[in-house]
Amino acid sequence: MTDVDVVVIGAGAAGLAAAKRLIAEGKSVQVLEAMDRIGGRAWTTSDWFGMPFDIGCAWLHAGDRNPFLADAHAHDWTLFVHDMGVDHLYFGDRRASEAEIAEMEAAEEALAAAIAAHDGPDDRLSSVIHACHALRAAATFGGPMDFAQDDDEISIADFNAAADLDPNYFTKEGFGALVARWGADVPVRTGCPVREVDWSGTGVRVAGEWGSVRGRAAILTVSPGVLAFEEILFTPRLPPAHLEAAFDLPMGLLTKIPLRIEGDRFGLQAFDDLLIERHARHDVFFLCFPFDTDLMVGFVGGDFAWEVEAAGKAAAVDFATDRLAAIFGSGVRKAVTAGHMTNWSGERWVRGAYAAARPGKAAARGVLAQSIGERLWCSGEHLAGPLIQTCGGARLSGEAVAGEVMRHLGHPARVVL
Ligand SMILES: Cc1cc2nc3c(=O)[nH]c(=O)nc-3n(C[C@H](O)[C@H](O)[C@H](O)COP(=O)(O)OP(=O)(O)OC[C@H]3O[C@@H](n4cnc5c(N)ncnc54)[C@H](O)[C@@H]3O)c2cc1C
Repeated sequence: MTDVDVVVIGAGAAGLAAAKRLIAEGKSVQVLEAMDRIGGRAWTTSDWFGMPFDIGCAWLHAGDRNPFLADAHAHDWTLFVHDMGVDHLYFGDRRASEAEIAEMEAAEEALAAAIAAHDGPDDRLSSVIHACHALRAAATFGGPMDFAQDDDEISIADFNAAADLDPNYFTKEGFGALVARWGADVPVRTGCPVREVDWSGTGVRVAGEWGSVRGRAAILTVSPGVLAFEEILFTPRLPPAHLEAAFDLPMGLLTKIPLRIEGDRFGLQAFDDLLIERHARHDVFFLCFPFDTDLMVGFVGGDFAWEVEAAGKAAAVDFATDRLAAIFGSGVRKAVTAGHMTNWSGERWVRGAYAAARPGKAAARGVLAQSIGERLWCSGEHLAGPLIQTCGGARLSGEAVAGEVMRHLGHPARVVL
């Protein structure tokens, strides 16, 4: 391998975006990816149902600011503006009354206002929810379904720093497929897990079983989960503040349990949102029949998602089927002809869905964003400003960090190590 200006570790949206920008500016770049594909958490498969299904990101959030929307239009992706709400609400197997739905909508508004108005010291999101007496159904989306963490594990300051993600576009051909197409022109070495980063000299040396490469700088786009598990040995060790910041940004989990439903649709329409509130935060949300396909996509988030993934696919499919059968009757069991479960907790090179700061630790993102010895920079969804946790945000983070690296490198295209 030849030496390069910049080594980019990871070929998800952030790594691909950083590489694209550096290459466009004439820098030599080596992108190293542990998996055997590009895209990271953006991954569409047709293997599960014979049609595109997003195992990772699916909605182009914040469409007015999402750089992928232009690509989606350019490639004629089929888009649907999905106004996320709750069309159908159940408490266990009991359908909520009109009055209860109105109560939940009022609670949603009150809760949003209370969270935004919070000006005390940073605390758990659950403290505001309890003080606001909001219905828990109103809080389910803010916590487990959106932030992928339970409310008592979310920092209010971190939550408030995240942007409102409307408008949300859902794609028929797949968000992962869009990212793969956009990133296809980036030269990436796949199947190359990085296990060592030596930044003791003037540049960096990045190594793994596949060999090594040297660069003047490196951009680390691995998740905080991968950093915290110390999959990569840093020499010298990462500054304590950076390592602590990775621990303070633990990965939340969101698990999809898509079911193929043939025959009866139980009166549900394409793109209906169905929320089932349950004991012990075992809530489940279903996106119904997107684009009129036969799929009902179940979602569970937060601590419960770790339990669901640990129990495995068969248990997850039974869980989702049982919840629907309890509401719509035993005919559901016959109508469900296939089911799957996403398993990001078991993906060694990600270790969860996306990061959320622990209560009181919202500043961790700012710490991790600081360069390490002006040779190493972190980037990814966890450092995407108001678009944290999103794929569009990861891309913007990669582009921004590439700009910062270029300012440090100056303009000479080649490197003396
Ligand atoms: C279930 C789920 C649903 C989601 N839904 C949405 C959604 O609807 N909309 C949305 O915008 N976002 C969504 N997201 C979040 C979105 O997918 C991520 O924010 C985004 O894709 C992260 O991009 P990234 O480049 O920061 O990280 P990644 O995509 O994780 O890229 C990092 C890359 O680094 C690689 N890597 C890790 N360790 C090493 C190593 N040691 N050596 C080499 N390579 C390594 C990984 O394999 C990976 O490819 C969802 C995520 C999940 C899991």
